[in-house]
Amino acid sequence: MGRADDPMAVVDNQGRVRGIQGLRVVDASIFPVVPCANTNFPVLMSAEKIAATMVP
Ligand SMILES: Cc1cc2nc3c(=O)[nH]c(=O)nc-3n(C[C@H](O)[C@H](O)[C@H](O)COP(=O)(O)OP(=O)(O)OC[C@H]3O[C@@H](n4cnc5c(N)ncnc54)[C@H](O)[C@@H]3O)c2cc1C
Repeated sequence: MGRADDPMAVVDNQGRVRGIQGLRVVDASIFPVVPCANTNFPVLMSAEKIAATMVP
């Protein structure tokens, strides 16, 4: 996950896969940096936050 000008970023900050319309990835694989702590909760937080942006 990263900014539009980051060549290593596959998804934007809403989990949208660059170059593929209608596909999102929201799991630990989008973390730019994996925290040195339990990762289940950050996955849930990412999912909740991105899901909230999808609700009209
Ligand atoms: C032994 C162990 C103990 C852990 N204990 C804790 C803990 O106590 N607290 C904590 O916070 N975190 C813990 N974690 C970490 C936590 O489990 C992970 O951070 C979290 O599950 C990551 O979620 P995820 O959705 O990114 O990946 P996953 O939970 O791994 O989910 C990925 C899903 O994608 C599916 N998948 C994979 N490839 C494909 C494919 N090609 N096509 C379709 N589906 C596919 C898999 O089957 C899986 O269902 C633990 C991890 C392990 C291994």
